[in-house]
This record gives sequence, structure tokens and C-alpha cells, in this order.
Amino acid sequence: MPTQPAVKHLVLLGGGHSHVTVLREFGLRPVPGVRLSLVARDIQTPYSGMLPGLIADHYRYEDCHIDLDRLARFAGATLIHAEAEGLDPEQRCLHLPNQPPLHYDLLSINIGSRPPTLNIPGAADYALPVKPIDEFLRHWDAVLTRFRRHSGPFRVVMTGAGAGGVELLLAIQHRLRYEQQYHGLRDVKLDCHLVSATPMILPDHNASVRSRFEHLLHQRTIQVHTGVAVTQVAPDSITLSDGLTLPAELVVWVTGAAAPEWLAASSLATTDAGFIQLNPCLQSVSHPEVFAAGDIAHVVAYPRPKSGVFAVRQGPPLAANLRRAALGHALREFRPQQQFLSLISTGERHAVASRGQWSIAGAWTWRWKDYIDRAFMRRFSELST
Ligand SMILES: Cc1cc2nc3c(=O)[nH]c(=O)nc-3n(C[C@H](O)[C@H](O)[C@H](O)COP(=O)(O)OP(=O)(O)OC[C@H]3O[C@@H](n4cnc5c(N)ncnc54)[C@H](O)[C@@H]3O)c2cc1C
Repeated sequence: MPTQPAVKHLVLLGGGHSHVTVLREFGLRPVPGVRLSLVARDIQTPYSGMLPGLIADHYRYEDCHIDLDRLARFAGATLIHAEAEGLDPEQRCLHLPNQPPLHYDLLSINIGSRPPTLNIPGAADYALPVKPIDEFLRHWDAVLTRFRRHSGPFRVVMTGAGAGGVELLLAIQHRLRYEQQYHGLRDVKLDCHLVSATPMILPDHNASVRSRFEHLLHQRTIQVHTGVAVTQVAPDSITLSDGLTLPAELVVWVTGAAAPEWLAASSLATTDAGFIQLNPCLQSVSHPEVFAAGDIAHVVAYPRPKSGVFAVRQGPPLAANLRRAALGHALREFRPQQQFLSLISTGERHAVASRGQWSIAGAWTWRWKDYIDRAFMRRFSELST
């Protein structure tokens, strides 16, 4: 009698920038003997590269979100709409709210990161974290409504001067200035501040990119406060470590990246900051049946900044290694680039390109970014289901 091939259950946790490619690849070339499940908190998963463009009103919501329901159907995956809250790598199961434990043979984790827990007095209550992005976008709609009804000074304080913070503040300013003009809000005075604990803005970029943005921020009358930490956030102000208190109608939090506590509480090997330690095959160093990619991952041999670019790049090698692991084949190592291209938008349809020690800027750079971003999104919207 012919024996049935053993079915392996591959669970993809999180619909991040790498897993969308895994789903696409598994849909295009299904792996025999694999049952696929996707656990995702958001059914519409955001593509972060286009988020500032959404805020600036260059894009619509659907331009920069991938429909995981559709993608899961294409991949033949069961979609479980839930937020994982625990992991037991010894029993090989995930804990989801109000459901029995979900058992896996192979698990891949691509759940991103969030700004670190806001343990600064008042920050959790009065600052708006950029992630989860869906919650940020809901609040942003409320901010726009509030702004349209406002009179007097409207002060925006962005905490975090990495590419995400700088880009987002410029997008917010661009949008609010447009709202002011469009609705004739003559009584509103917009005032923007950028605050960073680092001694300089854009610490992961070269001096020429920094100087372009310093110039631009000055031109746009955005006040920059570097080398100062936030010590307190109140309903209508923010206090810095140099003693300065800035009145604020909106405080946005885009500082660094943190991992959920339940991961570090599991027996999976994680870094001190709670990110999953991986070998160059994107496989957990402690549990070979667990893989990871994107912000939540830390490849011990090749540490890289937390960035959507790396999460996207890890998609194809992750898909290939999950396929190999399911079929019992040898895994292949993935070595990420040392230098990478970043395209940072500046509010209007203009962007700065940064790579290594090189930079260039212009409207065409924005069109280049727009072309790359839309091409990435088309890979998922043009699949037939
Ligand atoms: C304003 C801003 C702009 C940025 N712009 C850029 C840029 O232009 N270029 C760039 O390279 N990087 C950019 N970044 C960085 C980028 O956002 C991250 O590096 C990137 O999103 C990480 O991708 P990821 O796939 O790891 O996770 P994410 O894109 O965060 O995806 C994780 C997914 O997992 C889901 N999830 C999370 N937790 C759970 C759970 N417990 N259970 C189930 N599902 C879960 C979420 O719903 C989400 O869909 C920007 C960041 C910000 C804040």
C-alpha cells in the first residue's frame, strides 16, 4: 500500500515585509506535504516605505497596504486573524488569545518591532507611537479633524531623529500646511520640533545626507533638539533632559525598536534586547525548527540596522530555506549587503538617496522611490486568486 507523505505544518507568524514574499513564493510554487498557516494581527499589512507618503497625502490607504486575506488564499494558507501572545518552543506551539495552542512543525516569525515601552512618565498616555501602524493611522485621522477645528499655535514634537522620525515629521508638516491652505485656517500657527537623544540626526546615515537634512529642516523652520532625552510627557507639553519644556498639541514617538516581552520569556535564544538570535540561514540558534526575519530578527554573524529594506531582502532566502527545511534539504546561508540604498522622502514629492558615503537629492529621486515602492506592491496586488 502506498504510504501517505507526512504533512508538515508550517506556521508563518506575522504578515511583515518578508512573509509576504514567502506567501507569494509558496503560492507560485507550492511545496508538497506542507500545510501552511498565517497568523496575523492585521489583515491589511502596511508597507512602511510608503507610510510617510500616505501621511503627506501622496498615496491612498490601499496603495500602501497588502491584503493578507487575498495573499493567503493565493498561497493556499489558512489565515488566522489573531495576535500571538506566547510561544512554547519545547512543545512547538504558539499561544493565541481564546484559542487552543497552535502546534507547528516549522515556525517562521516576522512580527516587526515597536518603539520601546514608554516608561517615561506620561509617554504611554500622551505620546502617539508610530507602531502599530494601523493604530497610528486611526489616531492620525483624529489629529487631522482636531487640526481643522483648531485655532492658535499647533505644536508637533517628533521624538526620534532616525530616518523614520525625520521623514514622518516632514510628511506631517507638509500635510498640515496643505490642510491650512485648503481649509483657509488662518488662525492656526504650525510649529514643528524634532527631538533626539543622539547627538546628531540620522545617525545611521553619512555626513552628506545629514547635512542635506539639517539644511532642509532649517529651511522648513523645524527646530531640532539633539543630545537631549525626553523626561516627561504631559497632556499639553513635553519636558527634555536639559530642562526645556515645549508646549505640544501632538507628540509622536518614533524612537528605536523593541521586541515583545513574550518572546524573551520563551526559551528561544534572544539578544539582551529580546530579538531572535539567528544563524546566517535565518534559523534560530537554539531551535532549528524556528526561523525569523525582519526587525524581530538578529542575525548574529551579520547584524544590520532595523529597516524595511533588510526585511524585504530577507524574503526570498527565507522562503527558499523554509522550502528546504520542509523537504528535509540542506539550508543555504544568506549574507546581507554591507551598504544599502535608502530613499528618504522630504514631505513633498522630493527625496534624498543615501548609500555608504554617497547622497543625491531631487524630485526625480522621489519618482525613483515611488517606482520601486509601487513595483514592490504590484508583486502582491497582481496575483490571481
Ligand atoms: C515612519 C516610518 C517610516 C519608515 N520608512 C522606512 C523606509 O522608507 N525604508 C525602510 O527600509 N524602513 C523604513 N522604516 C522601518 C520599517 O518600518 C521597519 O524596519 C519594517 O516595517 C520592518 O518590517 P518587518 O517585516 O520586520 O515588520 P512589520 O512591517 O512591522 O510587519 C509585522 C507584521 O506582523 C504583525 N504582527 C505583529 N505582532 C504580531 C503578533 N504578536 N501576532 C501576529 N501578528 C503580529 C503586524 O500586524 C504586521 O503586519 C520606517 C519606519 C517608520 C516608523
